[in-house]
Amino acid sequence: MDDFAKTKDALIRELQQLRSQVTTLGQPYDGGPADAPLDVRQLTALTKAAESLLGIHDLPSLWPRVETAVKTLLQADRMALYLYDNDTNSLSCPYAIGLSAEYVAHVNRSFENSPGNELLYHLAPMWAEDVQNDPAFNHMQPHIQMEGFRSLAIFPLINSQGGSGGGLALYWDEIRPVNTNWLNTGYTLAHMIAQAINTITLFSQTNESLLREKQLGEISRMLNTTPDLPTLLGSIIKMVAELVHADAGLLGLVIEREMMTFYPHNIPNGVNLRPAPRPRGLAWEVVNSREPIFLTDYPTHPEAMQKWIDVGVTHFMGVPLRAGDRCLGMLALFNLGHSPIQFTQRDLDVVVSVGRQAGIAIQNLRLLAETQQRAAALAAALNRQAELDMMKNNFTQSVSHELRSPLGIIYGHAELLASESLGPLNDDQRQSSEIIMRRVMMLTNLVDDLTALLAAETQELRREEIDTIMLVYSLLADYRMRANDLGIALEAEIEEPMPWILGDSTHLRRVFDNLVSNAFKYTPAGGRIILRLKAAGEDVIIEVADSGEGIPEDQLGRIFERFYQVEGGSKRRHKGTGLGLTLVKEIVEAHRGTVGVSSQVGQGTTFTITIPGFMPKG
Ligand code: ADP
Repeated sequence: MDDFAKTKDALIRELQQLRSQVTTLGQPYDGGPADAPLDVRQLTALTKAAESLLGIHDLPSLWPRVETAVKTLLQADRMALYLYDNDTNSLSCPYAIGLSAEYVAHVNRSFENSPGNELLYHLAPMWAEDVQNDPAFNHMQPHIQMEGFRSLAIFPLINSQGGSGGGLALYWDEIRPVNTNWLNTGYTLAHMIAQAINTITLFSQTNESLLREKQLGEISRMLNTTPDLPTLLGSIIKMVAELVHADAGLLGLVIEREMMTFYPHNIPNGVNLRPAPRPRGLAWEVVNSREPIFLTDYPTHPEAMQKWIDVGVTHFMGVPLRAGDRCLGMLALFNLGHSPIQFTQRDLDVVVSVGRQAGIAIQNLRLLAETQQRAAALAAALNRQAELDMMKNNFTQSVSHELRSPLGIIYGHAELLASESLGPLNDDQRQSSEIIMRRVMMLTNLVDDLTALLAAETQELRREEIDTIMLVYSLLADYRMRANDLGIALEAEIEEPMPWILGDSTHLRRVFDNLVSNAFKYTPAGGRIILRLKAAGEDVIIEVADSGEGIPEDQLGRIFERFYQVEGGSKRRHKGTGLGLTLVKEIVEAHRGTVGVSSQVGQGTTFTITIPGFMPKG
């Protein structure tokens, strides 16, 4: 409304100026006869007409008022308003009275050849007192004769940039002699009409921009809040089509690089939208070039498809859906020939920016969906793992129970036999019963190791504060006798202060029992076993070093494997299960630690365990 008020004030000021210039306006236009200047009555009528044109918000309501003004002030029998579009260099006629559609269409089509064309260069009125006998109109005679008018005057409509915005053409059925007086009136009236048109256009453009701004805001909000991809794709295409008044739209998404699937909006029945393989068609052209395509004459494009031509597509707009360097697909909008509103360059700019935002939103939702899928798969795997652990745990408990008791009974009976309480045995019988006892003992050890291994894998570790120095002293005490019996020196080297370990003392005790008893197994009499305790920051390093027979280098990597035993040499003498080191590794890693080994055949072996610890308080 403010705009209108301002324009109205400006116009009234202009009219007052005109009033003061009445005499100068009496000058003839080139060639026009000089008459009396406008009198007060005419000026009052002009002011009234001007006022009636103001305060109008839309062009359709303006036309009847223009008609009234033209008829009262200039008594024209017919009239036409021609609007000139500088961008497209074209003429249109939104309002005409008393003229045939053919005549108006003819002028629109061939305005560049009509005398009125002069208005584009000289913003001055032009007229013909008798068009039917005016040589300048010779080439239009057939049309003029058909219409039947005699006099013609055209007044310039000046656009907001001060250039030509078209013309107000007036027609009289009888010859109307020209005089400056009514030429001035027509000129001034046309000027006012142009002002009113400019204001209305500006007003509707501002309204349109505000509306577009609002719609863009809604699209942005939707892009950022839609929780799933299918809803998002449907909403984008619908909202963008509404934004630019497209008759139909299509969102194409590239899948697996070579195919595009389509999400339609208002696509006419009968147009099939099968996924399109690379690389034909406008859709792929947009995706490959990552540039928009804008066509105002779709059927003539080399990539135009018959199915779209058949449904009447004339205007086409295709923009890429980009996310950074990647092009995820494209957004296409169509206008059908009969549509009253056609796309403009501004529409394209808006859709390009929506395409960019949409690309990023699609990418984000895809990433989210992938992450959710992975999280679900991981959760399922963890559940399954937990179930398996549970089964293993149950199995371990029942197996160790079911095996241990019969093994105990067999051992007891073998021992009974060997003790000859059931009668004297000959040498062969005694040997056999001893073999039974030894083998049963081995089986019992195997069951123990297996049970411990499975327990280490499946049961939660306890978290006790373990004094590492005490741990090594207790090992020394426990193995002292055995060392003496075997003639092996058992020593300890301990750094102080030492960090403690937060862990499971039973499991850790098993680790060192395994390492120390291996050291005894593979070290001959006269050898040496050293337990070393060192700190590296808050890490605890425990070494079990022996001067035994060592392990060949090519087998070092395999000794931690389940049931692996070093082949050849004297190794098979020591009947083990091949599970001890597996258990060691398993338990140390459960304490977030590592196990290393270095060895030289004939020189000895050193196992190094590193476990994160903490400094005890006080
Ligand atoms: P086992 O029950 O056979 O001792 P382990 O898993 O404890 O099984 O050890 C695997 C193999 O590693 C053993 O068979 C042995 O050959 C080799 N080994 C382990 N510790 C030593 C060591 N201190 N000195 C030499 N060889 C060793």
